Amino acid sequence: MGGYRSAVPLSRATSEALAARGVAVEPDFDLSTRAWWRVGGPADGFATVSSLDELVAVQEVAAAHDLPVFVLGNGSNLLVSDAGVRGLVLVLGGALAECEVLDDDARELRVGAGFKLTVLVSRSHRHGWTGLEVFAGIPGTLGGAIRMNAGAGLGETVEALVDAEVVLRGGEVRTFTVDELRMSYRTCHLPEGSIVARARLKTRGGDPDAFRERVKTFLERRKATQPLKFPSCGSTFRNPPGDYAGRLIEAAGLKGYTLGQAQVAEKHANFVLNLGGATASDLRRVIEHMQRTVHEQFGVELEREVHYAGDWSGWQP
Ligand SMILES: Cc1cc2nc3c(=O)[nH]c(=O)nc-3n(C[C@H](O)[C@H](O)[C@H](O)COP(=O)(O)OP(=O)(O)OC[C@H]3O[C@@H](n4cnc5c(N)ncnc54)[C@H](O)[C@@H]3O)c2cc1C
Repeated sequence: MGGYRSAVPLSRATSEALAARGVAVEPDFDLSTRAWWRVGGPADGFATVSSLDELVAVQEVAAAHDLPVFVLGNGSNLLVSDAGVRGLVLVLGGALAECEVLDDDARELRVGAGFKLTVLVSRSHRHGWTGLEVFAGIPGTLGGAIRMNAGAGLGETVEALVDAEVVLRGGEVRTFTVDELRMSYRTCHLPEGSIVARARLKTRGGDPDAFRERVKTFLERRKATQPLKFPSCGSTFRNPPGDYAGRLIEAAGLKGYTLGQAQVAEKHANFVLNLGGATASDLRRVIEHMQRTVHEQFGVELEREVHYAGDWSGWQP
């Protein structure tokens, strides 16, 4: 974990206030165990909430104690700093990671934001639900997918979402319709500091066998074209309008570019790999080198899809 000390330690009073509301905090939690890139330093505090009440309690205590809270989904779109995360890192479990059918013909589901999309897709397969293929191949949670408006070749999160129940900083619970969230390419307008607790999703009618076949073909194609042997966060950059980030990175001659143990994948230039033992700093340096080089050669600013998380204040480019 690199021996970093917390710049703003989680105070005992804050931990006790959380414990009094049923939320146990684990100090100095190694986040590299939770991040797909397998890098990142410690969280000052780490907690799992299992119900809406606990999530509300965290947001109330956080506002009262000026505690920064970072919600972690499956860590599949995050570069966590080697210095770790100051404040509390929160994961949604228990009732906030469950999937419930709301009507007789399973047209509507209520799904916890901590629920994994891979499980959602396999459950769709099993029950013959269609419409949720928008999540196929995305290794995140529903909360992360809403935050990112994640999508692959079979559609985007926005197409399956009815509304999302969100806990604002301070503890107010509000439901936002999909239109209110103004979701577009890999973005969603959630209020600052808010956390999605659960959401209603809609399934569609149609032929379940055709759905299963579509998903199978799609996943096979992805497996063949993506470098899945080493940890990555999938596509590092958004595609610029009318072009592909991967095409530009490859044309800039960056495939195979390596710094430390971080590498631009040979198989798919928009993927950055941890070959084993890379640091978050190595990965960030590679990412910024890609941005600089593509800008110098083609005048295009590549926008990151991957989020930087944690304390980057002492980072040296
Ligand atoms: C091999 C691979 C392939 C991928 N392919 C795709 C793809 O095809 N399409 C695609 O869109 N993405 C893809 N991704 C990226 C990633 O899986 C998605 O962005 C996913 O939606 C992230 O979900 P997560 O739960 O892992 O979120 P995290 O990475 O944990 O978090 C991402 C952001 O969402 C926020 N967040 C998480 N949960 C909540 C919540 N409950 N409330 C509010 N904010 C929240 C976090 O704070 C963070 O800012 C891929 C990643 C990998 C590793």
